[in-house]
Amino acid sequence: MDLKSIKGISIGTETKLNNLGINNVEDLLEFYPYRYNFINLIDIKDANDNESVTIKATIIEIPKIQYIKKNLNKMIFKVISNNQLIFVTIFNRAFLKQNLLLNREVVLIGKYNKLKNSFVASDIKFNILENTIEPVYHLVEGLTNNNMRKLIKEALKSNMYYDYIPYIYVEKYHFINKKDAVNLIHNPKNSNDIKLASLRLKYEELFDFMFKINYLKKVNKKIIGIKRELDNHTNDFCSILPFQLTSDQLKCMNEIYEDLISDRRMNRLILGDVGSGKTIVATYAIYLNYLSHHQSALMAPTEILANQHYKNIKGLLDIFNIKTEILTGSTKNKDKEVILKKLLNGEIDLIIGTHSLINSNVKFKSLGLVITDEQHRFGVEQRNILNDKGNQPDVLYLSATPIPRTYALTIYGDLDLSLIKIKPKGRKEIETKVYKETEIKEVLYKMLEELKLGHQIYVVSPLIENNLEVDLKSVFDLEEKFNTAFNNKVAIGILHGKLKSKEKDLTMNEFKNGNLKILISTTVIEVGVDIPNTTMIVIYNAERFGLATLHQLRGRVGRNDCQSYCYLISNKDIKRLKVLEESNDGFYISEKDFEMRGSGDLFGVKQSGLTSFKIANLKTDYQILLQTKKDSEDYINDGLYIENEHYKEIVNDISFIN
Ligand code: ADP
Ligand code: MG
Repeated sequence: MDLKSIKGISIGTETKLNNLGINNVEDLLEFYPYRYNFINLIDIKDANDNESVTIKATIIEIPKIQYIKKNLNKMIFKVISNNQLIFVTIFNRAFLKQNLLLNREVVLIGKYNKLKNSFVASDIKFNILENTIEPVYHLVEGLTNNNMRKLIKEALKSNMYYDYIPYIYVEKYHFINKKDAVNLIHNPKNSNDIKLASLRLKYEELFDFMFKINYLKKVNKKIIGIKRELDNHTNDFCSILPFQLTSDQLKCMNEIYEDLISDRRMNRLILGDVGSGKTIVATYAIYLNYLSHHQSALMAPTEILANQHYKNIKGLLDIFNIKTEILTGSTKNKDKEVILKKLLNGEIDLIIGTHSLINSNVKFKSLGLVITDEQHRFGVEQRNILNDKGNQPDVLYLSATPIPRTYALTIYGDLDLSLIKIKPKGRKEIETKVYKETEIKEVLYKMLEELKLGHQIYVVSPLIENNLEVDLKSVFDLEEKFNTAFNNKVAIGILHGKLKSKEKDLTMNEFKNGNLKILISTTVIEVGVDIPNTTMIVIYNAERFGLATLHQLRGRVGRNDCQSYCYLISNKDIKRLKVLEESNDGFYISEKDFEMRGSGDLFGVKQSGLTSFKIANLKTDYQILLQTKKDSEDYINDGLYIENEHYKEIVNDISFIN
């Protein structure tokens, strides 16, 4: 139902709602409060000194405003509350003055100082004059919480309620109906109302989510793929490697081998922390796929990473006579034509590239294996397009998103999971330390030590150029600073997203072969970059980055058996950054990140759109998630979904995608 059908929605308001992701009346009804203010009015005589309280009062003097400095004003006025005169102060609410009329009854929220008989208010309410629970909504500029409440009140009259919980579970758990639940969640009378309503709404949302995953898994399980007649060939493959594989790597390789020889289509996610050595496992899969006379495609999210994979993997596989090519946005048209033709003829065995690979003119003779590196960087559609370029090719995803295992199992429930937990032998913990900018001398000194050992250094900054509006270090800024600090004696290169790919490639090569000693970069080096001689990374304005990004960036070093270092430069938010000082373990960090920020920002998963829940929270509602996982499995196995319009539609959509 159109938003315009609701009383009080102008075009301006509609745009604002759209910005909150609300596009129709149903969305508005399901725009649940993210918290509640519990308003308990008390008698001012019962207030303890400096306790936060909410009182009813009548204004007996018109407020006076004092402008203290820019962005700071103070309003003072007198009220009577239960026959007692009180002096009220409120900061930065000068805009409320017009509403604070003589003799008006208001509700004041704040702290009461008994000695001075003064009340410092944090908020003033005009409509609430008895005990209530006030829902609090996410807002955008120009839309107040009160506006939102009014709009939702109107929407509640519309009777647009869809009940998605299968009837058997409504009965089993005695859920209240959808209409009551939505009404209560927006207008609860007590905390029990909130509990009843939210339990039902969370169950509904998670059931729907788990139904999709479980159904996908069921469909995937049944897909007949390529059955290969193959020996294991691990020994041949290992003989070309300059190192010994870890037991986890070998286990993954074996799982892949089993998948490839079975007639079931492989649909596997390799989950391993940064630097755990996922690329080599993928390379083994490519090798086996080649032996069974099929082509492979490897897609990476950045050109830098695609180039790196091309060089490394080609370097390894040339010996087997595997023909490898690269295709990215900067491949010349002439070269591209040749590559496309050869792919179609089957003269190329392995194509490595970026998003360019999903272009419709990329066609294969016989695509047997699709690998997506850093899979969380791609949308589901992009991955599927590439998968569809063959006849049920086997599919392998690589990801360093170390989400807690239990969550991984549910969220990636439609994929088979291989975990690489141990790092290659001889790796040392990366020494991590947070520094304030005033302590930068110490960092410079350590950089110099590292350079003397012949090692290289990454420096990361959040900005390319200086920007007067924000106080952040930029790439150019730092280039100048370090040149001064090191007397122009150290070769420094810069790298950022605005450079042409050729320039990026050149700089990357110069750094890789050691001509450049320091590489100052934006986060373009975040994923995948592998230059083992780099043993130090210095990250400026570290508070600007999430723990996940910082851990990924740190993973650029510690890639050989030398001691590596990570220095986080920040003047604020030290507490969060301490987690990185404590641990090198991506799974631990993700647990911490999860605890601190909840599932809304679940370590890298956000981009994949998996956690855009309206009311459920993967962390706090994990028990409900497990229950819906089981219930939806039963529901599918019993075939009951055939009789439910909503789930029948989902099933049709899924069958369509596959
Ligand atoms: P990621 O899992 O982050 O993608 P990579 O595949 O880039 O990690 O591997 C990191 C580095 O470790 C590479 O230089 C790779 O050659 C090396 N490596 C991989 N496996 C081993 C091993 N078993 N022993 C020693 N080095 C290894
Ligand atoms: Mg990688």
